[in-house]
Amino acid sequence: MIRRKAIVSLLALVFLLPAAGCARRAAIYQNATIDALLDGNYDGETSVARLKRRGDFGIGTFQKLDGEMVALDGRYYQMKSDGHVVEIADEVKTPFAAVTFFSPQYKMELPSPAGYAELQKRLDAARISQGRALAIRVHGEFAQVKVRSVPAQSPPYRRLVDVVKEQSVFEYKFVTGTLVGFWFPESMRHNNVPGYHFHFITDDKAAGGHVLDLALTRGEAQLLEIRAVEIELENTPPIIRTTGDSSELNKVEK
Ligand SMILES: [Zn+2]
Repeated sequence: MIRRKAIVSLLALVFLLPAAGCARRAAIYQNATIDALLDGNYDGETSVARLKRRGDFGIGTFQKLDGEMVALDGRYYQMKSDGHVVEIADEVKTPFAAVTFFSPQYKMELPSPAGYAELQKRLDAARISQGRALAIRVHGEFAQVKVRSVPAQSPPYRRLVDVVKEQSVFEYKFVTGTLVGFWFPESMRHNNVPGYHFHFITDDKAAGGHVLDLALTRGEAQLLEIRAVEIELENTPPIIRTTGDSSELNKVEK
């Protein structure tokens, strides 16, 4: 039964022709590792201007862990812990972000309701390679989206797992918007979040955050298979205390 479902989903994939002159190998640029962020390194040297040179789509956070980042269609937004969303200035810096130039390779209709787990299952069925990352954009109508954002921190910084205990959680009902995110293989766990990681922003750019749960009514997923990941190591501290225990990452992201 599961296998049949997977086949049906694959048949629902529509492969898209690359845009003329778009021979670029799809790559993610990251300015740090997720382990460094988990460890409490919230001061980065990378500006939004620099990120814009490396991608028009992606997610991350801001200096001092001041809210959630979403980049969509080349515009970068900050979703603050008080629920406000602002377009962020180029000079603002970030300790952790992952971006790419999003030119979808294939798309999949999502015509029927799906909770977060069901949506992930449908995206799983569409994944062609288990070893490559995916950039994923889902636009649709949502009966509910539960998101969080985190408040700006001051040094000495606590570990991320302790900071998220004070996260603000917002629940939006009957909104239209976009999930922006990635899927990373388990093998990249120390570099980025394994599995699915989405940030959400409404079409009117009034609300959003890091996705904790959702109920999709209908929508469309666009997917881009990632062939390379460039990780900046300049801002990585000399010692990372994170031991590779995945429980902290699960508490932070889920
Ligand atoms: Zn996030």
